[in-house]
Amino acid sequence: MTARPVLKLTNLTKRFGQILAVNGLSFEVYEGDIFGFLGPNGAGKSTTLYMIAGLVHPTSGSIEVLGHPHTDYRHVRTQVGMLIEVPAFYEHLSARKNLEVLGRLHAALPRTRIDEVLERVGLLDRAKDAVREFSHGMKQRLGIAQALLHSPRLLLLDEPTSGLDPEGSVSIWKLLRSLVDEEKMTVFVSSHLLHEVEENCNRIAVINQGVLVACDEVRKLLFFSKEDFLLMFEDPSVRARAEIYLRSREGVEIFAAPPHDTQAASLLGEDTVWIRTKHGLMPTLLSELVEHKLTPRAVIPQRKTLRQFFFELTRRQPLTL
Ligand code: ATP
Repeated sequence: MTARPVLKLTNLTKRFGQILAVNGLSFEVYEGDIFGFLGPNGAGKSTTLYMIAGLVHPTSGSIEVLGHPHTDYRHVRTQVGMLIEVPAFYEHLSARKNLEVLGRLHAALPRTRIDEVLERVGLLDRAKDAVREFSHGMKQRLGIAQALLHSPRLLLLDEPTSGLDPEGSVSIWKLLRSLVDEEKMTVFVSSHLLHEVEENCNRIAVINQGVLVACDEVRKLLFFSKEDFLLMFEDPSVRARAEIYLRSREGVEIFAAPPHDTQAASLLGEDTVWIRTKHGLMPTLLSELVEHKLTPRAVIPQRKTLRQFFFELTRRQPLTL
């Protein structure tokens, strides 16, 4: 059974004068996703988030939130919680007071809700402290508490762990996981921190220059690389002959060391070769190896890291990130 889309973008486009910031974006975010939204600087992530949040009008295309068009602002307001700017607080007021002030904007907020969200974000024991005494990580958690006040179904977050130390980041991701698992929420999060996204998101979309370049489960995108393989042969002599053949074969590149830092690297030995093939070449290559009596005893597709995947997609050098 396909999960139902909580968020659906169809041909979403935004033009600022001459700049086409978002260009025909279409994808869906499903219930229970922690969905990572990635792209290099200027790719159009914030513009997309603003459009979903109803803060920027699309030039064309549509956004649906739980089956309602984004132009149904009342529905979006009640179903979506967001933290897409630096959270704003009354610094001299306590965490609880800040939530109370904001809570007045939400009709019929149960009295217990403020303590509930403070507990959820791990700040109940600091509820009486002035926000000016809070660390960056605590402020981020309080910002998420603000976004959660009205019990939204979809949470939009822009770079929620940016500037946090590793412990702070882990606590935010744990919080997001608990919201999904225990409160049936869906989380849509933009981030530049690819290792965090790889660890914590189940699905991602990557955009580049306003255009969608990938959207799928992280597991599928990274585990089943169609180009990188470890070939294992019966013994080093077969391997040596196979390598001579592979070196002369157009569309095949041989790596001296594993192209990716994976567990399979530990399998590297005298009977193995690491190759990258032209897209879709592997089936043909395999029958050629069989024909030449160079049949590998195992062909192991290599897992990429999200970082490698991202740079290949967006064609930028890692040093520029
Ligand atoms: P970053 O990772 O740096 O935050 P981003 O992916 O969020 O980047 P956007 O901020 O959405 O990218 O910008 C996409 C493009 O749209 C950029 O070329 C930017 O200059 C342009 N842009 C964004 N907002 C405006 C605006 N209000 N007026 C004109 N151009 C804009």
